[in-house]
Amino acid sequence: SSSAFDVIVIGAGAAGLMCAAVAAGRGKRVVVLDHNDQPGRKILISGGGKCNFTNRTVTPAQYLSANPHYATSALKRFGPADFLDLMKRHRIAWHEREHGQLFCDNSAADIVAMLLSECGAGGVEVVLEAKLGAVTGEGPFQVATSRGGYCAPALVIATGGLSVPKIGATGFAHTLAGRYGLSVVPPRPGLVPLTFTGADLDLMRDLAGIAVPAELRFGKTRFREALLFTHRGLSGPAVLQISSYWLTGQPIMVNLLPDLDANARLLERKAARPNAQVETVVGELLPARLARALTERAGLLGRPIGQSTNAALAGLARLLSEWPLVPAGSEGYRTAEVTLGGVDTAGLSSKTMAAKSHPGLHFIGEAVDVAGWLGGYNFQWAWSSGWVAGMSV
Ligand code: FAD
Repeated sequence: SSSAFDVIVIGAGAAGLMCAAVAAGRGKRVVVLDHNDQPGRKILISGGGKCNFTNRTVTPAQYLSANPHYATSALKRFGPADFLDLMKRHRIAWHEREHGQLFCDNSAADIVAMLLSECGAGGVEVVLEAKLGAVTGEGPFQVATSRGGYCAPALVIATGGLSVPKIGATGFAHTLAGRYGLSVVPPRPGLVPLTFTGADLDLMRDLAGIAVPAELRFGKTRFREALLFTHRGLSGPAVLQISSYWLTGQPIMVNLLPDLDANARLLERKAARPNAQVETVVGELLPARLARALTERAGLLGRPIGQSTNAALAGLARLLSEWPLVPAGSEGYRTAEVTLGGVDTAGLSSKTMAAKSHPGLHFIGEAVDVAGWLGGYNFQWAWSSGWVAGMSV
């Protein structure tokens, strides 16, 4: 025999808890099932423990999806201001950082406590350490777990993406979607450090620990943020952002001096200070180790700039301002902050988050083919899609 509810939510993460709280607030009897022994683990580790819970400016332009319009309705109906209202009611203090990113003053744990308190007020039952078995039927759905069976006419899948399996991520949503005949956009890691091999890696290893502001471009997409050299390749916000757009085998263009014309600057210095070493001139613009490494790569190490040909200086200028780097790969789901792809939005209603072919079956959060930029956008999608499903179940 199974326990009967109005709504079963699978996944006690950002989207699932929001959905459960909203549905319970409408008088629904809701159970949330999760295999972890603690709800909201990803929220707790997010934003360096302070959770970048949303952004000042959220539009569909900050999301990647096969259907760029899918998120529009949910983001409008429950946006950053609505989440801030909720924070205010719970007296959670927050602050804004660069790029409109909003973080908790105290701790990400405040957000989890807020969601659990909202769930508690509505009598939501949260069942942890529940190993999921078969999901069958529809109207009602039957869900078998190691903590008993559950049935309900509405089922919400909020199990997230594949990123960071160590804290409980699985492909549950993708597999279940497939079983109900929905298509899945092939998942891949997003917001992830990029790895390199060969001479590029040697150079990056020598520079490990150096961070510089840079503009990274892939196709028409550009991000201007910090770039960090690591012992595996490149990281830092600029790299995480561009990684979501990068396609295997293709170069990312790195501009280390986005605010000046590198070639003009080198020629100007050549005329003004011909006896200065090239690396010294570049060192006026970049950290010394980086300046030295790039000067060496351009074959101009130890050379006075006055004795360097304009062609050689143009080569150096290209390294400084349009350095093409072809990543070997990424660090993968182990460290990816998000999963690109997921349940295909073509089969879902943007007004309810339900499958068009199975009106009781909903998919929300990162499980869906909607992935945001770095900067609070992924949590905002979890809140917005969770709220919409919570209002519709
Ligand atoms: P999740 O929050 O991942 O919740 C899914 C839940 O489902 C989990 O509790 C999991 O245990 C459960 N589950 C999964 N599989 C099963 C299964 N088979 N059976 C039972 N339960 C299951 N985004 C931001 O906007 N701002 C940030 O600051 C930020 N920082 C991040 C930092 C890190 C290190 C990482 C990895 C991600 C970060 N993100 C951030 C992304 C953000 O955390 C996710 O996009 C968001 O949590 C997705 O919400 P969700 O509810 O869809 O999934």
